[in-house]
Amino acid sequence: MALQVQIGKTELKVNPIGLGTNAVGGHNLFPILDEQAGRQLVQTGLANGINFLDTAFIYGPKHSEEIIGEVVKENGNRSDVVIATKAAHKMVGNEIVMDNSPAFLKESADEALQRLQTDYIDLFYIHFPDKDTPKYEAVGALQRLKEEGKIRAIGVSNFSIEQLREANIDGYVDVIQGEYNLLNRDAEIELFPYVMEHQISFIPYFPLASGVLTGKYDKNTNLAEKRGKFFQKELFEKNLEKVERIRKIANEKDIDIAHVVLAWYLTRDAIDVVIPGAKRADQVLNNLKTLDVQLTVDEIQEIDQIF
Ligand code: NAP
Repeated sequence: MALQVQIGKTELKVNPIGLGTNAVGGHNLFPILDEQAGRQLVQTGLANGINFLDTAFIYGPKHSEEIIGEVVKENGNRSDVVIATKAAHKMVGNEIVMDNSPAFLKESADEALQRLQTDYIDLFYIHFPDKDTPKYEAVGALQRLKEEGKIRAIGVSNFSIEQLREANIDGYVDVIQGEYNLLNRDAEIELFPYVMEHQISFIPYFPLASGVLTGKYDKNTNLAEKRGKFFQKELFEKNLEKVERIRKIANEKDIDIAHVVLAWYLTRDAIDVVIPGAKRADQVLNNLKTLDVQLTVDEIQEIDQIF
């Protein structure tokens, strides 16, 4: 079994390379998704040592959780897999609003348990803050779910430092998930010092900047076919230059840029585990090669300076 790390102060132990599954059944996010490829990539991950799956109600919506529930059940290894899911999006007619009220979070957890075909969720997040609910009340609702055995650890996502402080007034928060990658290191300023002080684990999303940090794009890439903020022309071209500077380190080590990037995150004290997303099984297998990468102190510093 690959090296297992503990997520912050929780009892959860996982392979530091996890799997983000917003592109597994997430047709609302990626309209031309190959669903069978999504199912297969989860199966491939589990068969090759990945044991931490990150999903959410809104991926699909509901469908990513459903697929994960099916695949984990087929594999018959529920207790070997750490499943994280998230809630806060509420459908009101055709609109989606954020709701962090204790009643909605409780109902959402119960519904996620059904979709995931399980009787506990390992890590349950408030996906986005809402406007009205005091954050300690929202997290208090998750603490009650934990005491009932329905969830094993408490997460918040997309919370500002002020919202995190309020959420963690009773010390209940185990994990914060937020955007962090070599192209956006804002979280280092206030969130990282706070999480280090409070034994909270920071799980970065968009670790590969939707693929830009794999080095597979160049200035001839047809951006019209690409969705997401990392593919806006000016930002894209500026970032390509930086990505090219990591290629030198990757070439010297005979590995891919993505491996250098993911390995670098795992050298951050605030980070225990990463959850790169994937659209195909070969990407999952490729990202697992990060486990063999050792960056030297000089390389870690060089990357720090490039970005
Ligand atoms: P990401 O990890 O930065 O990028 C993933 C994408 O990069 C893949 O879908 C694939 O896209 C490409 N890729 C992955 N591995 C590759 C490889 N080895 N070689 C080449 N290309 C590769 O972005 P993300 O998936 O959006 O974010 C990670 C996870 O974080 C998500 O899956 C989700 O679970 C979570 N998330 C959470 C939030 C939140 O609000 N909490 C927000 C966003 C994401 P292509 O094949 O299209 O290039």
